[in-house]
Amino acid sequence: FFDGVTLAPSDPILGVNEAYLADEFPGKISLGVGAYRTEKGLPYVLPVVKRVEQQIWEDPRANHEYLPIDGLPVFQRLATELIFGPDCAAISDGRIVTVQTLSGSGALRIGLTFVARYYADASSLPPIYIPSPTWNNHRDIVPDAGLGEARTFRYLDAKSGGVDMPGLLADLSDAPVGAIVILHGCAHNPTGADPTLAEWRDIVSLVRERRLIPFFDVAYQGFASGDLDTDAGSVRLFADAGVDMLLSLSFAKNMGLYGERIGSLSVVLSEHTVNVPATAKAVRSQLKAVIRPMYSSPPAHGARIVAGVLGDATNFAAWKEELAGMASRIGDMRTALKAALDANGAPGDWTRIVKQQGMFSYTGLSAAHVAYLRSKYHIYMTSDGRVSMAGLTTSTVQRVADAIKDAVET
Ligand code: PMP
Repeated sequence: FFDGVTLAPSDPILGVNEAYLADEFPGKISLGVGAYRTEKGLPYVLPVVKRVEQQIWEDPRANHEYLPIDGLPVFQRLATELIFGPDCAAISDGRIVTVQTLSGSGALRIGLTFVARYYADASSLPPIYIPSPTWNNHRDIVPDAGLGEARTFRYLDAKSGGVDMPGLLADLSDAPVGAIVILHGCAHNPTGADPTLAEWRDIVSLVRERRLIPFFDVAYQGFASGDLDTDAGSVRLFADAGVDMLLSLSFAKNMGLYGERIGSLSVVLSEHTVNVPATAKAVRSQLKAVIRPMYSSPPAHGARIVAGVLGDATNFAAWKEELAGMASRIGDMRTALKAALDANGAPGDWTRIVKQQGMFSYTGLSAAHVAYLRSKYHIYMTSDGRVSMAGLTTSTVQRVADAIKDAVET
């Protein structure tokens, strides 16, 4: 029966990691997967997370019962307040419906499947716009959710390594009313280039004028600036504008909970919604109807950790400090890599490395450079030249800079 199964293409990001793991060279360097590493190059369990995990099991009522279909209620509330801000009018109006999801990927999938179902008449399905470039999984989740191929809008100005605002605004001006636009809330993956707050205001105006529906993907809150509220600035502008929107939130990176698969999906009803309580109730019921036949209910452990961190003032303060520490180490690596490339005279302007934010730098290296770095130096990164800055350490940065110089000159 299964004889005809053909090989699926390997994931462009996880495939890099598989190749890295299979490499037996002792000095190999992984700059592929976006996971934070310590100064020693090791995975990091945040101390506050360890503490909360202990606290969870000190409670004699702790157990392994199922969570509700839409997840842990206290987690839903705290996650919503974290990204939208506790004073958000949409929260006090009851216009935000949040469900717990299998991290950010799960939130995107549930949100887009909800959209596809809501527009039950396939001929009226809205087009989904994704930035060019974007995280590869966006392109794959959209058709899997039943929405056809995603359309792209211009995002990167390849020359400067910054955001191509004229291109972005022009492409989104052409999008039809009701189109859904996936926007990275901060620390755009893979480019590390984010609009300024003033540029976000221009995008808000366009979204309102064209009646587009933003779907924010927030996988790096706190990783761009080191500050949670600053990184939520873009999202909060849209929420304050009172538009319909969706939002996926991930705690994979900012709490280091990658494998726990903990995130949330929020559907925000516009301020023009006629009957908010009834609509919010209906939306939640539909989200649950998507989740139940897919995986029934989400896992509990990650939700309890996040609730324990966000819901306790001491833990929350500790987390903010630990998060700022991660962002700061990444910032140091940006400065060090640029300095090493300037010092060794690698041809090119490397300013973009320190201008870009978040976990990644889009170096401008070509697929041929990347292949060269892998075969000659056992340095691994995605073929688009994206470097996970968190994979660098003070002891590897010089080697990486020298290898890049060699690759660019060859
Ligand atoms: N969106 C973007 C842009 C990402 O970079 C990631 C993580 N690589 C995610 C969403 C979601 O990841 P996860 O499902 O692990 O939360």
